Amino acid sequence: MELSIADIKELRYEDGPGIRTTIFFQRCNRRCAGCHNPDTWNIDKGEKISVDEVVKRVLDKKMPYKRVSISGGESLLQREALGELIFKLFNLGYDIGLYTSYEIEDIPK
Ligand code: SF4
Repeated sequence: MELSIADIKELRYEDGPGIRTTIFFQRCNRRCAGCHNPDTWNIDKGEKISVDEVVKRVLDKKMPYKRVSISGGESLLQREALGELIFKLFNLGYDIGLYTSYEIEDIPK
């Protein structure tokens, strides 16, 4: 499955507990004033790659920790690929954090 990402950054100290690798998803419709990542809003600007390639890029960073945060952008706008990515990282033993602008009851179907 393919998804659109903006970036993958290692050694992140501010994206959750512990030092983490953060996957920035592309696309967001919220347009919040003061957004730190407005370059992630437009889906057309992201890099389209497979979930397996995202996992490979995380592993290729050879970080001594197994902690990933998913940020953006709004990752829940790419839910199917997000689910596959979480499944694969979880099965590799990763602690996974996810930032979203949605409340549980507001998650789009
Ligand atoms: S939800 Fe997040 S990524 Fe989207 S516009 Fe707001 S702050 Fe930016």
